[in-house]
Amino acid sequence: QREEPNYFGAGPAQLPTAVLQQAAKDLVNFKEIGIGAGEISHRSAPGVAIIDDTKAYLKKLWKVPDTHEVFFLQGGGTTGFSSVPTNLVASFVKKTGKVGKPAYVITGSWSKKAYEEAVRLGFDAQVVVNSKTIEGKFGDIPDVDQWKIPSADDTPFVYYCDNETVHGVEFREFPVDHFKGIEIVADMSSNFLSKPVDFSKYGLVFGGAQKNVGIAGVTIYIIKKSLLDHASDEELRKLNVPISPIAFDYPTVVSKDSAYNTIPTFNVHIIELVLEKLIENGGIDAQQEKNIKKSELLYSTLEKYPSVYHLPVTKRARSRMNVVFTIKDGSLDSEFLKEAAAAKLTGLKGHRSVGGMRASLYNAVSLHSVELLADFAEKFAEAHK
Ligand code: PMP
Repeated sequence: QREEPNYFGAGPAQLPTAVLQQAAKDLVNFKEIGIGAGEISHRSAPGVAIIDDTKAYLKKLWKVPDTHEVFFLQGGGTTGFSSVPTNLVASFVKKTGKVGKPAYVITGSWSKKAYEEAVRLGFDAQVVVNSKTIEGKFGDIPDVDQWKIPSADDTPFVYYCDNETVHGVEFREFPVDHFKGIEIVADMSSNFLSKPVDFSKYGLVFGGAQKNVGIAGVTIYIIKKSLLDHASDEELRKLNVPISPIAFDYPTVVSKDSAYNTIPTFNVHIIELVLEKLIENGGIDAQQEKNIKKSELLYSTLEKYPSVYHLPVTKRARSRMNVVFTIKDGSLDSEFLKEAAAAKLTGLKGHRSVGGMRASLYNAVSLHSVELLADFAEKFAEAHK
């Protein structure tokens, strides 16, 4: 039992209390089989059913077409972006015989880290745009006419982060039409299942579970099936291309139905319960509507007090998941956090690299919690304007 939290942490994040209560029971005794969901083998019938049902729910809820495959891996967002280049280049080599240059759209610290990892692994990665160089800091998505669009015949994929968790920058829509013939890869770790997505436009979408869909420990991948056709290790070695560690080799994992090695079955079960709840509550459209309402309420409240609050992200790029703001008089930061905590509003401190505040309004954060926060922000501003 717990009092409903008003928790705005950036991740791990709040999950629906009812899901956790069910999960707690299932951790002890799963479906009355006398043993818990974290204890059963990932290859036993109930273990396999958890994986298969979770996949089926995700496909149904997010309208994933049959051209795409869903799989799970141990890990998080970092496992996602660091396993992308070796896997996607292996399929590009199979298709074209060439290694090519992975392309990166950099709009915040997570896409920057992903680019740096591709370089670190030895790929000749290219930058399509870096909003920090153009704007001086992250906080906008520059117009596509300022981007350097790569050529399709030399680009295995273009990578971007759909929602930059630290900087609060989110794409309303990625300009896919400018990348004809290039596979699009999106990190949706922090806006997974927050809105509808047209998967036919994507080669790969992945996300760490611990914000919108579960607890830390699992990454979810939605990949175009044709990208699972890789060049052989021998061929890749001949071209001096790094190959994927076996546990992160997508075709290997898919061929074993996400259980090539020990998938954390209990963590996947929590995802299953979250998906069930989302379906029960009206699906993705209803969730998106709620997310828009919550973020609009908070942004519009903060905007009412320009002498107190600063919103560093341009309107067109504002995240619906992570509302980043600073208090103009920085000496009030600790007072804001202290008073917020006294009002049972927690998890508001901004990322250490950015400072200020960040209110993460993930799927499980209720409109009521956001109303309480908006109310608090209003009272605080009235007292300090
Ligand atoms: N990508 C994004 C968008 C994230 O928000 C995060 C984590 N905050 C990561 C990647 C890295 O995730 P992890 O810590 O699970 O590796």
